[in-house]
Amino acid sequence: MTDLLPQLPAISFEFFPPKSEEMERNLWQAISRLAPLAPRFVSVTYGAGGSTRERTHSTIARILNETSLTPAAHLTCVDAPCADVDDVVERYYEIGVRHIVALRGDPSSGLGGAYCPHPQGYRSSADLVASIKRRHPDIDVTVSAYPEKHPESSGFDADLDMLQAKVDAGATRAITQFFFDNDLYFRYLDRVRARGINIPIVPGILPVQNFKQASSFATRAGASVPDWLAKQFEGLDDDPDTRKLVAATVAAGQVHKLAKHGVDTFHFYTMNRADLVFAISHLLGLRPQAAAQKAA
Ligand code: FAD
Repeated sequence: MTDLLPQLPAISFEFFPPKSEEMERNLWQAISRLAPLAPRFVSVTYGAGGSTRERTHSTIARILNETSLTPAAHLTCVDAPCADVDDVVERYYEIGVRHIVALRGDPSSGLGGAYCPHPQGYRSSADLVASIKRRHPDIDVTVSAYPEKHPESSGFDADLDMLQAKVDAGATRAITQFFFDNDLYFRYLDRVRARGINIPIVPGILPVQNFKQASSFATRAGASVPDWLAKQFEGLDDDPDTRKLVAATVAAGQVHKLAKHGVDTFHFYTMNRADLVFAISHLLGLRPQAAAQKAA
């Protein structure tokens, strides 16, 4: 991991909308620390079934008003009529948001349940992308991608059909579900390119802040947790300091290997914490930039 990379990668960060004042303070500390790294954009998630609709909106609005960062608002179509979803898009458009991460969302019965569109709702993420682009062609639309295929999917072909439909509808970039084994990403990328899909497939990187939590999340999201990763965190449940050092080393190793194989853009799932992501970005060669610092 010591060799210099041929070029500095581009990065983006994902945050979730805070539920309490304390979480709000933590989020803004993380944003202030990470903003000087000049990410291409920072995205804010949308709670299951639209549960964070207002909080996602106010976080995005505050990013727009108080920083020089480019926000990207996540949006799902689950459990909502098209008119409500369109209304969310319009509100974003009015305040100047030009980047949406458009998703179908998890079934309201929870991950693993059957997805059933709202009777007056969008039937799929591709329909949502098409609607956003039809009304606002200047909105940049990012979508999801699944290197290990989506847990509901019947196979890679079905997943790639959906990705193709999202691209045909106007999506310009996909961010992947997190993965820990880089080979899964490269195999998936080969499949995507073999289909003639040429949009950037940006790897989503999850620095493991808490192994137990991450593996339970991975199980639900259909992402595998390799044995070697479990081994790295073995015995560290009550040792957060060492855990953090191991987490930074593991994630930095992962992104460095991806970068050595030509990946030049990364999306980090920050979990609203800056330290690991800042350290990993530093190891990738990224340094705080004065202009971004002043504006954050
Ligand atoms: P799609 O890309 O539309 O579908 C994924 C796959 O599932 C398809 O390829 C297809 O094979 C299969 N599939 C889809 N619909 C059906 C169907 N009706 N029947 C059978 N198979 C089907 N969730 C949130 O709630 N809020 C967020 O902010 C959020 N952000 C995310 C960001 C990223 C980068 C990623 C990767 C995921 C995110 N998710 C979020 C999770 C996402 O909502 C879930 O994974 C959801 O189950 C699928 O939504 P999608 O848009 O990714 O699915």
